[in-house]
Amino acid sequence: MNRKLQIAIIGGDARYLELIKKLAGHPYYQIKLIGYDQLDPGFFSVSHTDLTQITPETLDAVILPITGINDKGEINPVFSSQSISFPEDWFARLNHQALVFTGITTAYLDEAVKKNQIKLYPLMERDDVAIYNAIPTAEGTILLAIQHMKITLHGANAIILGLGRVGLTVADKFAKLGANVWVGVRSPSDIARANTLGFDGFHLDDLAAYTEKCDLLINTIPVRIVDKRVLNTLKTDALLIDLASKPGGINFDYARDRGLNTIHALGLPARVAPKTAGEILAKVIDQLITDHQ
Ligand code: NAP
Repeated sequence: MNRKLQIAIIGGDARYLELIKKLAGHPYYQIKLIGYDQLDPGFFSVSHTDLTQITPETLDAVILPITGINDKGEINPVFSSQSISFPEDWFARLNHQALVFTGITTAYLDEAVKKNQIKLYPLMERDDVAIYNAIPTAEGTILLAIQHMKITLHGANAIILGLGRVGLTVADKFAKLGANVWVGVRSPSDIARANTLGFDGFHLDDLAAYTEKCDLLINTIPVRIVDKRVLNTLKTDALLIDLASKPGGINFDYARDRGLNTIHALGLPARVAPKTAGEILAKVIDQLITDHQ
């Protein structure tokens, strides 16, 4: 590389502090921070600026917050009291080779991509990010389980619903702590996979047969699976943790009516391990920029 790549980081949360630290340490990246005016300027040895001072044509990469840009074309940065408003032509002015990273895409960004042939990377939709993030998610789940259960995880009967990226790691971590892990899935191949990994795999149709002896139920399936029928079979002191994104997979109203301890635990990587979550983002962004050169 014979010149430094110009990277604008516009808004972001606690995860971005580690992301900035990692990218700022790269010898070929020149970082410009926008929306960090509440941080001590000496915190990172990178330049702080604002959107009006940036020439989009000169940027090689733009890193937007996890939440992207809202429908009004704005970002509300965590480390600034001022919102950031994107002029209508901002994305049109970007170099066609520039890469744009966001956590999730939004209607505004979808429109900007369509109009301006932008290379947009919604990081949270990537398999590698989801697989790395499953570790802090599982650790956050362990933390909640220990805080809210009256028995040890060792010897506890734990049902994990789903054997995707989160379910697999959660099942693995709880099994390693000595829990009896039963995994509910919908396909015969996932039942086989669960069994070969040392868990007890069962079909979701049989869930009610497993819940009677369950101390801890962890849902990772983003569909209403834990309904009234299932909830009626659970012990009153069972703990339910739903990891699936909103609206989740548990009938929360009914669970509450039954007096069950139910937690919808969202955004665990950012809450329990923002530094690790930031490292994960930095690693993937760095790899994508390098691959693009
Ligand atoms: P994933 O890899 O796509 O796994 C989803 C699992 O749900 C798979 O086992 C899938 O089974 C199953 N599933 C999906 N639809 C189903 C249905 N209609 N009936 C039965 N099973 C169904 O997703 P993931 O990365 O593990 O993420 C799982 C959820 O956790 C998502 O909602 C994600 O947003 C959320 N999440 C939460 C946190 C947090 O901090 N709480 C962190 C990361 C992710 P098949 O393979 O058979 O489709």
